[in-house]
This record gives sequence, C-alpha cells and structure tokens, in this order.
Amino acid sequence: MMPQRFRMLPPSAAPLVPHDIMAGLLGWRVGRETLETLRQKLQVRFKVRHVFFSTSGRAGLSAGLQALRALNPERDEVLLPAFTSFSVPSAVVNAGLKISLYDLHPETLTPDLASLEKSLNSRTLCVVACHLFGYPLDLRSLREMCRQHGAQLFDDAAQAMGASINGKLAGTMGDVGLFSLSRGKNMTAVDGGIVLTDRDDVAEGLTALVPEPVGFNTKHVIESLMLLAMLRPRAYWLPASLPFLNIGVSIFDPVFRVESLDHWRAGLAGSVLQRLDALNDGRRKVAASLLSRLDKLDEVCAIRPLPQAEPVFLRLPLLPQKGAWPHGRVPEIPELGVVRSYPLALQDIATLKPHIVGSGSCPVSALLANNLLTLPTHSFVEDADMMAMTAVLKEIFKKADNIADWLPGCSRHTIMENKV
Ligand SMILES: *Cc1c(COP(=O)(O)O)cnc(C)c1O
Repeated sequence: MMPQRFRMLPPSAAPLVPHDIMAGLLGWRVGRETLETLRQKLQVRFKVRHVFFSTSGRAGLSAGLQALRALNPERDEVLLPAFTSFSVPSAVVNAGLKISLYDLHPETLTPDLASLEKSLNSRTLCVVACHLFGYPLDLRSLREMCRQHGAQLFDDAAQAMGASINGKLAGTMGDVGLFSLSRGKNMTAVDGGIVLTDRDDVAEGLTALVPEPVGFNTKHVIESLMLLAMLRPRAYWLPASLPFLNIGVSIFDPVFRVESLDHWRAGLAGSVLQRLDALNDGRRKVAASLLSRLDKLDEVCAIRPLPQAEPVFLRLPLLPQKGAWPHGRVPEIPELGVVRSYPLALQDIATLKPHIVGSGSCPVSALLANNLLTLPTHSFVEDADMMAMTAVLKEIFKKADNIADWLPGCSRHTIMENKV
C-alpha cells in the first residue's frame, strides 16, 4: 500500500470510468448521431424543447446571451451575482456585453432581490441566477421581477445539474438555461456545456452552436484518460502539485471560441449522464453526514438549502459563525479537499472593472469571497476524512479561543445591517 501521505482528496470530482472512454470512442465513430442521441435524452430528462451543446459552459453562456441580445438589441447589460464562478463574467464580456452586479444573502446564497432590483433598468438584457454549490434557487419571484422590467432570466445551473425545487429543475426555470460538463461539475465530459430553452426564438438565435463537422482530436482522448486516472485520492497529489495545470483555479478570461461540442465528448457525456443520479445521491449522502457533524460545531455555520429544495451538493459551503476566521485566515486543508471558494467578488477583479457599469456595492459577496470555506462531497470522501475535517476545524477555534486575537472582520450582525 502507498504511504498515507500520498493520499489527497480533490476538491471536486465527477470520476470517469473505463466504460465512459469506450462510449467516447463509440461517439467519435458514430459521429453526428451521437449529439442527436444525447440531445433526445436530455430533452426527455429535463422536459425541455431545445437542447444545444458547446465546447464549455462559458461558451454556452456566451451563445445564450448573444441569442437574447439579437432579440433585444437595445439592451446590453447583464446582471450577475457578485459572488460566482469567473466563467460567468468571462462569458458576458465574450458576448460583447456589459456587467452589472447584485448581492446575495449570506445564510442561503440566494439573490438579494432588493439589491438586484436597484440595478434593473431599461438597458438590462437579462439577469443570470446561479444555483451555487448545487443548492437550487426558487426563481419564481425573480422571474416575475424580470418580466416587469422587460428583462430575460438566464438560469445558470452549471453547478446544479439534477437539482430541483418545488418540482422545478434547476436550469429550466428561466428563458434559457445552462449546465456545464467541465471537470469539477456534477458530471463531466472533461469540458463542455449544455444550453436549454423552451423558446423557439431563442433556439433560432443559437446558430453558433449548430454542430459543424469536427475531426478527431487526440488531446481530448488523452485528457479523458488523465481524468480517469488522476482524480483518485492516491493519484491526485500529482496533478495538484503541477501549478501549470491551474487545477481548481477560477480565472477571468473572456477570450475563447463559441462552438458546438465534438463527438468524443458527446459520447462521454451520454455515458456519464446515466450515472448522474447515482453521483448526486452519493454527494447527498456525504453532505448529510457532514451537515450532522458540523451541527455539533458551534463556531461554524453550514449554508443550508432552502425548504422544498432537492439540492445536489456539488460542495458543502460554510462560514465562520462570527463572520470571520481566527486571524482572518481561511483554514484550507488541501490534503482533504477543503478549500476556499472564489477568492474575489467580481467587483474586485481588476481586469473586469472596465466592463462593470453601475456602482452598486456588494458587501456580502466580498465577505463570501473572504470567508467561505467549502468541503468536498464526492464519492472518494470517506468517514475518516470527514472526521479529520471536523477535528481540524475544532482545533483551529480551540487555539484561537482568545477572541481578542481575532481580526476585526465584520460579524454576521454587521453584514445584515449593511445589506439593505
Ligand atoms: C462552471 C460554471 C460555469 C461554466 O464554466 P465552464 O468552466 O466554462 O464550463 C458557469 N457558471 C457557473 C456558476 C459555473 O460554476
């Protein structure tokens, strides 16, 4: 057996199995029909009229935004949560649009509708809602608010494929929706995106995602094989230690091509889709166990799903009960896949600033960027790992029980007061 020190949990993992590789190979052999089969499976599963595929989630988001823009040429602002994946603003800038921001509630990561409504205006093309960490949002009131302002709703379920609330599936609650097939999402085809819509006019505008004939790309096969091998806890230290792989890093990069998915990845996706429910069930079990353990820790506060929600727990986010961590340091434990989330609120990304309109401040998003810690929920997480996670967290607070040592970060009360 390998020494324990080589064991390292990836922060997120939707593992591939050898059968997926075979399906990728078959997909490549069969060609165009592979995309068609996958499209039909998704139309049935998500009860949606139109399904398109893209080379990445951000490419799908960009294509969807461009389709909405073509229908509303006088509107060019896209409202984003100030705390989300940097892929989201990357897509907006790629689509040639401007960004406006809204804040979130710290307890639930749901949109702060008061902050959001202030930024809605006659230039707002659409609002993007993100079901972060697989916690589904109930988008009914937001949808109504959008309608009143003539704006569209983009249901970004890149982190919540399979989640639902009040019987409504994440990704299908807006004018157009998105899933991501990137590494670290609910299910993966190494990379890829899925765009869904019930609207014929939006579907007609998604021309960039109409499949073109594509050749065989050896790189895709090698990447798939690496992913198959490398996510395992005894192998993950290797890719994790290679900084040029940028593993787990969210970057703002608006330069990418918007194209349809290739047949290899469509084949992979079709195979992995059959395991989506099992992957999500597994994450729910780990999350339930983590939540009950965290309940016993007074110093931290796990983010809870909304009532009526069927979350898929891509990761388990938590905050320090007092609003800031001892000494202002987020206690990451890389060996256990315990890592921070997005390190900056969107308003604080320097290269994004020229693209942001409006001056709405989003203090909760900044606080989340500074303090949110996330625990892994994937199938490689074992009982002993969870025990180790809670033990480390407990230890951090025990060592810092002199409150005077804490940095004067804002308490949860200050957050609430600052918000409205
Ligand atoms: C991952 C993600 C996307 C799409 O990202 P890609 O890496 O380009 O697939 C979009 N929105 C959110 C919220 C995401 O987490």
